[in-house]
Amino acid sequence: MEIQKEIKIGIYPGSFDPVTFGHLDIIERSAQVFDKLIVGVLINSAKKPLFSAEERVRMIQSLTSHLPNVEVNSFDGLLVDFAKQEKAKVIVRGLRAVTDFEYELQMAQTNRTMCPGLDTIFLTTDLRYAYLSSSIVREVASYNGKIDRFVSPEIVSLVKERCGRIRNKEEKKE
Ligand code: ADP
Repeated sequence: MEIQKEIKIGIYPGSFDPVTFGHLDIIERSAQVFDKLIVGVLINSAKKPLFSAEERVRMIQSLTSHLPNVEVNSFDGLLVDFAKQEKAKVIVRGLRAVTDFEYELQMAQTNRTMCPGLDTIFLTTDLRYAYLSSSIVREVASYNGKIDRFVSPEIVSLVKERCGRIRNKEEKKE
């Protein structure tokens, strides 16, 4: 009799606005831990992101096309519901510094209380990216600073183009 092995599915949720080298490092490393890794792009309409959820999904898809077990989807609402829908039992989050820890611990405990079968694992950042966040990238780009140490070349041009357009709009308003 053939025994069917349950495949291990992990979810890596985030805003990824835009996806940075820090995120890509966590994706590469967690793709080795799970049979399938789902990157969950939070739609989060309250936050007014730089890129739409579809754009963020496409960017991550293009940068992870060499990883056959990585899938990228967007979601809205509770992460626990998305995890259930995707049949994932483990959430992956990245930790950069102790400042991340308090919020992440609270979220992990809340999610486990709402959905007892759902665990969260943390991967510590690669030291090269310990300082890096999407908001830093947006901030530097908004003042026309160089962002090629933070994000992939194809993201550099997309961020520059988007920030340039926003700057032009604001200048016209003045
Ligand atoms: P969120 O708004 O959910 O925090 P982010 O896109 O900012 O979304 O981050 C998604 C996840 O990636 C979080 O777990 C965050 O801690 C992690 N992360 C962000 N930047 C880095 C980095 N430079 N190194 C490692 N993990 C990171």
